[in-house]
Order: sequence, then structure tokens, then C-alpha cells
Amino acid sequence: MVMEFDTKKIEKIRDGEFKRLVGLKAHGDTNGNFIVNGKRLVLMGADYFMAEVLKILKEYVGPTGGGILYNIGVEAGKEYFKAHHVEGESVEDTIGKFFGFLMYSGYSKITFDGEKIIVPSSPTADMWSKNIGEKTKTCYYLSGLFAGFLSELFKKQLDVREVKCMAAGHDRCEFEIFE
Ligand SMILES: [Zn+2]
Repeated sequence: MVMEFDTKKIEKIRDGEFKRLVGLKAHGDTNGNFIVNGKRLVLMGADYFMAEVLKILKEYVGPTGGGILYNIGVEAGKEYFKAHHVEGESVEDTIGKFFGFLMYSGYSKITFDGEKIIVPSSPTADMWSKNIGEKTKTCYYLSGLFAGFLSELFKKQLDVREVKCMAAGHDRCEFEIFE
């Protein structure tokens, strides 16, 4: 699909949001409350989330395991959008803050290259390569996150497919958006 973004603006907002989040408390309290942006979070090892989860799903249900993770990601992306979207905000602000949150969450400096979403270091792909090793694309959950988020943002159903993945031997993960 054709999308025009001010990529530089998105990156500036992403970096600002990342800094803001880094300034917040980043651990649970004695009652387990680890709240960031009004949401209770949990920290998990990147080896478990999502490399091991994907491996186990594939063992149980075969190749559709990736699709299950994708659909979980879609729901999470939609929920993230609904919880954080500010009416009247620019597309760049909305995407930039989402990318800032993802950077804070360990997904590195996500950006656009034309209409492709670029992820320089996916924790899932990295841990898959280190611990599992089979050359394959792994970032189904992240693809779903993008799809759910962008579908809400543009008010139409969009799918996001990973076209390059570090776990498949590429130097970065790349995602394409489809209507
Ligand atoms: Zn990947």
C-alpha cells in the first residue's frame, strides 16, 4: 500500500518517547506492580519470549504456530493503539511513540525504509539464531503487532508480512504492509 511518512519526524518522536520511558521506574514493586504508561508489564527473557514459545507452538501445531503468534500480536497491537492513541495526533507522532515503546521493550531502533518497516535487532530472531538455529523467519508476533496497530491507525484491515529475518540469515528484519 502507498504510505507517505515523514520518517525523520517518526525517528525523532521515537527517540523522545524512548528517553521518557527510560526515565520511569522499570521494575515491579513488592506487590508485583510494574506499571509503565498505565499498564502492568512483566519482564521475560527474550529466549523464552518469543523464540521458545514459537518453537513449542511449531512442535504442537506445525507451521500454523507462527500464525497463532501473529494473531496474538494483532490483538496486542490493536489494544496498544486503543490505550495510547491521542485524538488529533499526527500519524508520525502516533507511530513514533509506538516505535519508542518498542525500543524501550527491546526491539531496537525501528524505522521505515520507504514503505518497509525495518527492525535492526529483533530479540526473537537473535535468540532463535543463538539457541535454536534452524534458518527461518521468526518474527510473527512483531508482524502481528505492526498489523494490529496500523490497522487501527488507518481504520482498515492491513496485514504485515516479514520479508527478511535475521533468523533466516538476513542482516536485519524487514516487514511489508499489505491491504
Ligand atoms: Zn525477524
